[in-house]
Amino acid sequence: MGEIRLEKVHKAFGSTVVIPEIDLEIADNEFVVFVGPSGCGKSTLLRLIAGLEDTTSGRILIDGEDMTARAPAKRGLSMVFQSYALYPHMSVYKNIAFPLKMAGADTAVIDEKVRNAARILNLTDYLDRRPGQLSGGQRQRVAIGRAIVREPKAFLFDEPLSNLDAALRGSMRLEISELHHQLNTTMIYVTHDQVEAMTMADKIVVLNAGRIEQVGSPLELYRSPRNLFVAGFIGSPR
Ligand code: ADP
Ligand code: MG
Repeated sequence: MGEIRLEKVHKAFGSTVVIPEIDLEIADNEFVVFVGPSGCGKSTLLRLIAGLEDTTSGRILIDGEDMTARAPAKRGLSMVFQSYALYPHMSVYKNIAFPLKMAGADTAVIDEKVRNAARILNLTDYLDRRPGQLSGGQRQRVAIGRAIVREPKAFLFDEPLSNLDAALRGSMRLEISELHHQLNTTMIYVTHDQVEAMTMADKIVVLNAGRIEQVGSPLELYRSPRNLFVAGFIGSPR
């Protein structure tokens, strides 16, 4: 479970067309990276999948079911933001528990899921702390923990590491890849960082001005870029 299909997805804000038309298939359990320059529509595309934006036209299907008009909470997806979006006045435990509490889960179930997520993310010793008492990497793990407890069909990450320093980015990259192996869940990961795309992706979707330039494995894009844009983007060091 976790197959996502976009059919002729078009998005405009007023008269500004951001996504002219995109068709895309994401297989269950695939790690897909959307990569492209700033302003090319990566976040918009992710938000359309999450349901945080409405499509102007086209359809979004998850496991064959039309989700186009479905509210974000009813799509079975979890989104992780670059800004963490944690509640500063709540403990780590309560931050992770929050979505379950909102959904009315019972206390024992919440406790088991929170502790399980904390174990996976090495946060067990930090459950009583507030976000302000954590490092950037730990905060990002809390945000991921909050996504995990919902047991989503897919995780959507929007540049989750861009607020971290280079060394931490490297280790979090490995952690997220490891998480993907452990959870066996579809992940869509947005970045403008070629290294993240090349090292983490099963499949890379290269976007340019709201269009897909090329879709392929890191090796395919590296060896046979379809055009200069892809070659420049995948090939050029940053
Ligand atoms: P990226 O994440 O690749 O940097 P975005 O998806 O954030 O790009 O933005 C793509 C384009 O859509 C940009 O030109 C941006 O200004 C525009 N855009 C995004 N959100 C809105 C909005 N709510 N209203 C108007 N324009 C928007
Ligand atoms: Mg963005």
